[in-house]
Amino acid sequence: MGNQPQEFDVCIVGSGAAGGFMAKELCEGGAKVVMLEGGKEVDPSDLLSHKWPYELPYSGLRREKQAYFYQGDVATSIRYESQPNVHVDRARVLGGRTMHWNAVSLRYAPQDFREWTLAGIEDDWPLSYEELAPYYERVEQIIGVCGNNDGLEILPGGNHYLPPLPWRCSEHILKRATDALNIPLISVRKAVLTKPYDDRPACHHCGHCMDGCDASAIFTSPGCTLPKAAATGNFTLRQNALAREILVDREGRARAVSFVDTITKSTEEIKARIVVVCCGTVESARLLLNSVSPQHPGGLGNSSGVIGQYLHGHSNAPVQIYLKELQGTKPINQDGATDHVYIPRFDYRDPKRGYSGGYAFQVNYDSYMFPRHARLLKGYGLDFKRKVRTMQPGYMILGGVGKSMAVKQNYVSVDKSQVDAHGIPIPVVHFQFTDNDILLWKGMRNGLQQIISKLSGDVFFDESNSPSGLASHEVGTVRMGKDPKTSALNSFCQSHDVKNLFVTDGSGFTTSSEKNPTLTIMALSMRSAEYLIKQRRLGAI
Ligand SMILES: Cc1cc2nc3c(=O)[nH]c(=O)nc-3n(C[C@H](O)[C@H](O)[C@H](O)COP(=O)(O)OP(=O)(O)OC[C@H]3O[C@@H](n4cnc5c(N)ncnc54)[C@H](O)[C@@H]3O)c2cc1C
Ligand code: SF4
Repeated sequence: MGNQPQEFDVCIVGSGAAGGFMAKELCEGGAKVVMLEGGKEVDPSDLLSHKWPYELPYSGLRREKQAYFYQGDVATSIRYESQPNVHVDRARVLGGRTMHWNAVSLRYAPQDFREWTLAGIEDDWPLSYEELAPYYERVEQIIGVCGNNDGLEILPGGNHYLPPLPWRCSEHILKRATDALNIPLISVRKAVLTKPYDDRPACHHCGHCMDGCDASAIFTSPGCTLPKAAATGNFTLRQNALAREILVDREGRARAVSFVDTITKSTEEIKARIVVVCCGTVESARLLLNSVSPQHPGGLGNSSGVIGQYLHGHSNAPVQIYLKELQGTKPINQDGATDHVYIPRFDYRDPKRGYSGGYAFQVNYDSYMFPRHARLLKGYGLDFKRKVRTMQPGYMILGGVGKSMAVKQNYVSVDKSQVDAHGIPIPVVHFQFTDNDILLWKGMRNGLQQIISKLSGDVFFDESNSPSGLASHEVGTVRMGKDPKTSALNSFCQSHDVKNLFVTDGSGFTTSSEKNPTLTIMALSMRSAEYLIKQRRLGAI
């Protein structure tokens, strides 16, 4: 820590998508920032992305390639009191989930901020698309997003995209099917560099985005925002520093963060004038609920009681198809950069669809290295091997991503009687899909069937009779809103109760849409940073 000041201007907890942007913006704005990160850095040369399945102890089936991103006991120190097939994601590593995300980077549409006004469900956000749009634009330029502005009302675009990824044969075949149904198929928008940009190299199409990118061609905080923060000289990073609770002064304002050094096991304290929580949806709620004091008996900034509530995210519906037209063709390397195309929401055109909200489809988000159908086909011996080889060039996967409703009954709590390896109460996830979510999920499966009916090939449809989720897209546990009685944060992600406390990750979402959330998380974090700097200058916080 060297010459660190006694007290920092700002302490940011968490170094993922939200924390990285907050650090960059604040440090560039002149603030002295300390960042606490529970995990540690993974050296790109340690990544296992390019290993073949047979080089790994369990052929990759136990997610060995991603083990680096789940350090310590993070994978096990959680409990579910939910319906089956519900999972939330908590990475513990420098960079958080940006280290193994898929980088699909989509703006919310204006209507996604106004569910109550337009559809009579959930609540409106306390800010509009128009207010967030300039931050979307700036974030897209900083992280480097490839794709096109397709002029779609349901998926607004920016003005500075890098060239789109080229389409694979299977994606051209898919286009014939979607055209026949009048369903749009567009180039995906991804934070993957299709040409050298901002001192980072172009993608080399290895197909391992979610196992970690050793080239830094995909956006990560350690590859982009954190070095920019460090370059200012205003940034101090503490890795292996797991926040236990946020401490308050007599007036109930945040004054310091108590954390465990996970190497020495000692507990330390960092003083800061402002605390910004960026731990991810589940962990942010956990940290605030664990920060109990006489001034905040229900958790920090929780006079409304909503912290932990309104957990929501996405439901899923995948289908694999082995296109007849491509089966038996010469095997070629099709890895690319996982998704190259995207089917944006189209169900909103159907007034009789029978549910609120919508869905979209991601395409080919899996790499080609592992022949997944080998586990689904019956048989053995030479014929079996021949069948696997013949089918492989025809591989295509479609994955439905559906909105789930933000409802109070789905929530994260903490269990004081069950603690993690550092004595911190663990989070408990309580989640059931609502009736509307189930209807939407059925509609999404019908949408998939419609598309598949226009394609010829061997189809493996997920036959489960209830949705799975939350697709690592969980949001909502520290929601924004205009009314301090029903929300925890204002439109700048500032606590209604504690003026020097901000929470700028996905937990602030009032509602979600079918779009992947991270571009919106980064835009919100950047907007909050700008507000925070202005408020500091005015002496308001
Ligand atoms: C496989 C995969 C694919 C994905 N693909 C996409 C995609 O294509 N598009 C998209 O939009 N999103 C995608 N996501 C989701 C995306 O990664 C997250 O939405 C995003 O990273 C969330 O950012 P965050 O800053 O809120 O949290 P995170 O990125 O999770 O970062 C939180 C950080 O806080 C740290 N932390 C937590 N608790 C503490 C504590 N108490 N003390 C100190 N540090 C703490 C964690 O270690 C972590 O580094 C994907 C995620 C995964 C796992
Ligand atoms: S496909 Fe491109 S962005 Fe993805 S891991 Fe490989 S080089 Fe990185």
